[in-house]
Amino acid sequence: MSVRVVEVEDGRSLADYDGHLLLEPAAAWLRARADKVLPSLRGRRVWMINSAAEGGAVAEMLPHMVALLRELGVEIDWAVVESDRPEFLDLTKRIHNLLHGAGEPRLDAADRELFESVNRANGEELASLLGPRDLVVIHDPQPLGMAPQIRELGLPLAWRCHIGLDRVNEATRVAWGFLEGYLALVDHSIFTAPEYVPGVLRYKSSLIRPALDPLSDKNRDLRPVEVGSVLAEAGLAGIDASGRETPARVERLQPDGAWLPASEAPPIGFLYRPLVVQVSRWDRLKGFLPLLEGFATAKSAAAGGELEAARLVLCGPDPYSVADDPEGVETLEQVAARFGELDPALQADVAILKLPRNALLVNAIQRASTVVAQNSLQEGFGLTVAEAMWKGVPVVASAACGIRQQIDDGVEGRLVPNAEDPAGIAAVLAEVLNDPEG
Ligand code: UDP
Repeated sequence: MSVRVVEVEDGRSLADYDGHLLLEPAAAWLRARADKVLPSLRGRRVWMINSAAEGGAVAEMLPHMVALLRELGVEIDWAVVESDRPEFLDLTKRIHNLLHGAGEPRLDAADRELFESVNRANGEELASLLGPRDLVVIHDPQPLGMAPQIRELGLPLAWRCHIGLDRVNEATRVAWGFLEGYLALVDHSIFTAPEYVPGVLRYKSSLIRPALDPLSDKNRDLRPVEVGSVLAEAGLAGIDASGRETPARVERLQPDGAWLPASEAPPIGFLYRPLVVQVSRWDRLKGFLPLLEGFATAKSAAAGGELEAARLVLCGPDPYSVADDPEGVETLEQVAARFGELDPALQADVAILKLPRNALLVNAIQRASTVVAQNSLQEGFGLTVAEAMWKGVPVVASAACGIRQQIDDGVEGRLVPNAEDPAGIAAVLAEVLNDPEG
């Protein structure tokens, strides 16, 4: 258990947005807003609190947000509250899944005791960092159990929730019920969509729609030659890049279950094959397995066209290197087992990759994709969907709640009605790949 203030290093500044036609108005709006708000923040430090310094969309968003707010004159710090107790990580993962409507709808007194004791210990540590006029923003459920201590200090508390579901079921009822006591202590909450706000927060919530940063390494414009060289350095371009540094080591699953550096495996066909690519965490709810089935179904019915030549690339971070990701390991192993059973001709058309943490590589992979897929069973907001749209890459995604809000079927991309139906996935993939008009 520990509370750690994270050093924020961010090379970009608000001025970088000024020269950009689409972004300049947003930068100007932010400055004007800051001028209004800053007087009320004078003498107060704002604390952003979440549960991980790396991995996941929140950890990705916070450094840049903190840096920009500092530039605008806000005194702000980011503290990560971690726990090394596997049972706590397991519990908070269950809460996360329940809020998405998935998992066994049960949280009992032992879960409550565990949640409280870890958060109490963390809350004591955090309290020693907080000043008497500070303002605390907790992100997501994991650190929310510190709410009572923060309120005892008399500090204003906001909760920013990055997940949610537009339906109520037994799972969501249990999860929100578990969190209700803490939510009652929150002064204000922020959600990504109005449908996600639970009743207890209805009159003290606002919306911040999720967004990507167009100037980050994940999203910035890359010239074709840059896409090629990033892929080559990662061993993904199918060309001899020996003698060059390989900062981005990608590993590819072999039919016998072993992992080889991608540069030593047969070329996947980046830059010349039609590729359907999903880049996500290895989480069951990201729908990798049904996407693989859907692709297999589409291929078995392929009669010429782009589909005949198409390959599927499933990639995500190395879950074995992250201590707290047992579900990631399980999901990747299920995908790997299914891959091992495919017939060899189909195996050659499927690449399963473990990626290093490297935003530029994800950028290049998405730009080199013919179709970006995001077959999530549940999704509060599909960041990869937004990333593909920004890059002008066609998207095939499930009609999960968050994604439905991003895509009108047939307008910004194509939606698969049911993420767990391989025949439906196959039909949409065939349509998109074989449509010469794109
Ligand atoms: N991502 C990445 N490397 C990977 C897999 C995913 O950088 O190996 C990025 C992806 O591009 C996206 C984010 O992680 O920016 C995932 O965000 P999303 O909201 O889709 O999923 P979350 O992980 O928050 O559930």
